[in-house]
Amino acid sequence: MSPLIWTNWSGRLEASPLEVARPRTEGDVADIVRRATDSKIRCVGAGHSHAPLVVTDGIVLDVSALDGVLEVDSQRREAIVGGGARISALGNPLREAGLALKNQGDIDRQAIAGAVATGTHGTGPSLQNLSASVAGARIVLADGSTIDCDREREPDLFEVARLSLGAVGVVTRLRLSLRDRYKLEEKMWFEDLDAVLDRIDELCAATRHFEFFWLPGKPRAACKSLEETDADPRIPLEAEGSRLAWSYDVLANERNDKHSEMEYSVPAEHGPDCLRALRSLIASDFPDLAWPLEFRTLAADDVWLSSAYRRPTVTISVHQGVDFDDEALFRACEEIFLGYQGRPHWGKVHYLGGKQLAEIHERWSDWWRVRDHYDPSRRFVNAYLEGLAGP
Ligand SMILES: Cc1cc2nc3c(=O)[nH]c(=O)nc-3n(C[C@H](O)[C@H](O)[C@H](O)COP(=O)(O)OP(=O)(O)OC[C@H]3O[C@@H](n4cnc5c(N)ncnc54)[C@H](O)[C@@H]3O)c2cc1C
Repeated sequence: MSPLIWTNWSGRLEASPLEVARPRTEGDVADIVRRATDSKIRCVGAGHSHAPLVVTDGIVLDVSALDGVLEVDSQRREAIVGGGARISALGNPLREAGLALKNQGDIDRQAIAGAVATGTHGTGPSLQNLSASVAGARIVLADGSTIDCDREREPDLFEVARLSLGAVGVVTRLRLSLRDRYKLEEKMWFEDLDAVLDRIDELCAATRHFEFFWLPGKPRAACKSLEETDADPRIPLEAEGSRLAWSYDVLANERNDKHSEMEYSVPAEHGPDCLRALRSLIASDFPDLAWPLEFRTLAADDVWLSSAYRRPTVTISVHQGVDFDDEALFRACEEIFLGYQGRPHWGKVHYLGGKQLAEIHERWSDWWRVRDHYDPSRRFVNAYLEGLAGP
């Protein structure tokens, strides 16, 4: 019998797990965790991470059947959703309840628990990542017990669960803090890159969301802004760049060309200089790079492992086509990012070890201490995370 092969979205990561388990209920999840006491367990969402978070020779647990918007509290502007729910499946039911996610990333294919587990974010200087909007979680722990946590109940577990890297248990439900539903109007234009960097604060402050893409070698950046509006949606949905619709229809894009990606978060004030340094590096050492860099903003938060932990942030992504060797490029970029106090995106490529991560993330050892308390035999830690564990 040929071995079972699991691959991530880009196809760059492969695993041969013992089993891919697809529980239908929370009870099934607990049964699997209880029965497979000798196996490592790694949850998978939509497999969109470029970092080898899911890779295991143990059990890959796919909770996509645990989906849906399960409860809505309009008064508190909160909803409980299944951990396996795709972000794309949340927009409509939340809108019908008068609510919406506060922000979203560039695509909506991820599972909500997968996106939360790595600190997935969109753009907007006043908008935090998805982990920061988690108000509570239900988790099946390593002993098969099920526990609810939030700021009052099991607060330390809650801190880890907000950005867990899938390492503290199976998240079956998330309680999300939301806002009233809203519509967005999108605009795209080209502008000289230096002019954009010179007036970046003004551009970021002008609308709810601003970002730009810059293709190496080109003088101009492709700028994109999204602003809240009360106008009626333009139906059918227009092409990216000119949509006016409910937030979830404008925030999500199609990004189907397979690539790998490194993204770092730097303190907001260093964003423009960091991008300029990357531009020089690419011009001199990687002039053939034919994939854009993406520049976004992110509000500070208090999530232990967040790349925006206690600092207003700019995120910069570097992409490379999936058929290219990206290591020299990414390592050279990483050196620049680190020179600007960068913190890597947990779902993307980086080359840091535990010692560097401990220097970058002041709550790193707290995160491991709490994680180890709830999973002392490290059933939810794969070889990759084990390699990051200790300084
Ligand atoms: C085309 C593309 C566009 C992207 N755009 C953005 C973007 O705009 N912004 C951004 O910040 N990132 C972006 N990313 C990165 C992506 O959002 C993250 O890597 C995210 O974690 C992927 O979600 P997923 O559902 O695919 O999770 P997976 O990659 O499957 O898993 C990620 C982590 O979540 C854990 N996990 C999944 N489900 C559970 C569960 N139920 N319980 C416990 N742990 C769980 C896994 O164990 C793993 O550690 C993008 C990636 C791609 C490929």
